[in-house]
Amino acid sequence: MSSLYAEKRSGRGVGHGASKSPGMEASDKPTRREALKRIVILPALAGSFALGAAAVAQASDNKKQFHYQDKPGPGGKNCARCRSFRAPSGCTIVTGKISPDGFCIAWAKR
Ligand code: SF4
Repeated sequence: MSSLYAEKRSGRGVGHGASKSPGMEASDKPTRREALKRIVILPALAGSFALGAAAVAQASDNKKQFHYQDKPGPGGKNCARCRSFRAPSGCTIVTGKISPDGFCIAWAKR
């Protein structure tokens, strides 16, 4: 009884990876600490990749930020008459494909 107590107190007996059964290598089975690391790290990595993808998607589409619409704005202002328009469907400010008949708050007379 006293030897079991001594093993527990010294940390050699229970769950610290220091005890080895005969024929069992330390690399055969992950320790509890290694298993916990995997459980914590893998979802964290997956989350960071998801956030990165969302940031890229947001940066690649700023139509909402500039209140872009596919129809002309006040006074018939449209992309085709804006200095930022690049034919046939591009813009130097708003990203992605736009319509020549569209409009956004960055409109500037050509
Ligand atoms: S800045 Fe706005 S209005 Fe001008 S071309 Fe780009 S999307 Fe159209």
